[in-house]
Amino acid sequence: MSYVITKAFRFEAAHHLNAMPEGHQCAQTHGHSYTASITLEADSLDGRGMVTDFGELAPVGDYIRRVLDHSYLNTIRSSENPGYDRGRDVALEAAQGSEELVLTQPTSELLAEHLFRVSQELLPADVAELVTQVKVSETATSHAIFRPAGRVSTAQVA
Ligand SMILES: [Zn+2]
Repeated sequence: MSYVITKAFRFEAAHHLNAMPEGHQCAQTHGHSYTASITLEADSLDGRGMVTDFGELAPVGDYIRRVLDHSYLNTIRSSENPGYDRGRDVALEAAQGSEELVLTQPTSELLAEHLFRVSQELLPADVAELVTQVKVSETATSHAIFRPAGRVSTAQVA
C-alpha cells in the first residue's frame, strides 16, 4: 500500500527547440502555459496523516516563480540563480555544449528532469526522498514525465 500526493505549479514561459529542423513549428520562438506537477509517494503516513504538508513544496514553487515564470527558457543562466546548485546540472550543460545555460534544449522532458534536480536540491531531505516523478505539461494534451532511476512509482499516470 502506498499514498501518493501531487502538487501542481503553473507558469508561463517562452522557448524554442534548437534540434528541430528548419521550418518546424518548435524551432520558432513561442510560449506555453506550463504546469509542473511534483509527485511524492510514501508507504505510510506521518503523524499528521499526511505524506507531507503540501506547504513543504514551497521552495520548488518559489524557484518556478523566481526563475522560470515569464522567462525565455533557452537563456536562463545558472549563475543568475543564487541558491541553486548548478553542479547538479553540469552534466546536462556539458552534454549540450554550454557551461552556463541551464536548459539549452528546453523540451518538456528535460524541464521535468531539471525540476526533479531542483526538488532534490531545495527540499528538506526527508521530503526530497519521497519525490517519485515530475510531470511537465506544455499544453492541455501534451506532457512529459521524468522519474529518477531506482524509485518505484505506483502512481497512476493519466
Ligand atoms: Zn514549445
